Amino acid sequence: MIQYKNVTKVYGEDVTAVDQVSLDVNEGEIVVLLGPSGCGKTTLLRMVNGLESVTDGDITFNGESIKDLNEIELRRKIGYVIQSNGLFPNMTIEQNVTVVPTLLGWSKEDKKKRYEELMELVGLDAEDYRKRYPHELSGGQQQRIGVIRALAADPPAMLMDEPFGALDPIIRERVQDEFLAIQRELNKTILFVSHDIDEAIKMGDKIALMKDGQLMQYDKPSQILQNPANDFVAQFVGKDRMVKSLTIHRIEQLMERYDLLVSSIEKGEIATVSKSSNLRDVLSYILESKQQAVHVVDENDEVIGQVDFALVNQYMIDLADSNEPVVNP
Ligand code: ATP
Repeated sequence: MIQYKNVTKVYGEDVTAVDQVSLDVNEGEIVVLLGPSGCGKTTLLRMVNGLESVTDGDITFNGESIKDLNEIELRRKIGYVIQSNGLFPNMTIEQNVTVVPTLLGWSKEDKKKRYEELMELVGLDAEDYRKRYPHELSGGQQQRIGVIRALAADPPAMLMDEPFGALDPIIRERVQDEFLAIQRELNKTILFVSHDIDEAIKMGDKIALMKDGQLMQYDKPSQILQNPANDFVAQFVGKDRMVKSLTIHRIEQLMERYDLLVSSIEKGEIATVSKSSNLRDVLSYILESKQQAVHVVDENDEVIGQVDFALVNQYMIDLADSNEPVVNP
């Protein structure tokens, strides 16, 4: 859906922010642009919706060069969310959410209906917030509004520049989870900037890892972790992350998203985990295997992460304490 073809961006005379990057983003994918500060992530993102010009090469959207799209077409096709949420302080929440529909000339009734739908999507009371101003909301609420504002005209694609970066870690996890749940329904094509490897692994179907304006590796998170293309990638993802320990919550999320295989590091397959599997049954298999840790493997035999015996054991004990029936305690 979005194709970068040998794209270069030079600021002024000699700052090469993006250096001959080629990248294909398929429909419905979340691609995370990842890398250290100043590596060109934001520039790469902003060239898609025309906020930065392309110095050399081309970017196409559904086969059409973005140079041939006017501003209205770009706003309709591509939503944009930034870290500081970019809400207009002197506009109410409803006005903020409907900025793009207003630009596109929607009727009052259509805008009102869309505002209410979107507020429901993120679990905020439409009436309660309608006339409030951004400063009357918490950081997490403002960020939710930033996201639904970008979704307002139902664009097929979204650009998200460190959208959850300003939130504290707990709220951030929650907003990320909510966003992934929404994305499962909406299936947007998303380019997402992050400098945080954990966020990239969690959010990304693929990760584009950048350094000094160049693309170092473009692959699924599991591949980046297991088969780093060079020393820079290996160092950036961190040695201890080669196989990442998963939380119970993360296992639940993965179960919703993929067909997985739980495999003992030494003995091979323990359990196949499909979307219909029961989490507790899966955890029981892991306990019965009596391994320190087991791997969770996707359908292409790639290790997504490991589950530690101690964690599962503690989880089961906590469950038993809470008097819930436990399968094979
Ligand atoms: P960060 O994670 O810190 O936001 P980034 O990876 O998004 O960084 P960019 O903002 O794309 O990086 O910047 C890439 C390079 O281009 C940097 O060296 C930056 O100083 C330079 N740069 C960015 N914007 C401009 C500009 N308007 N004029 C000149 N140089 C710029």
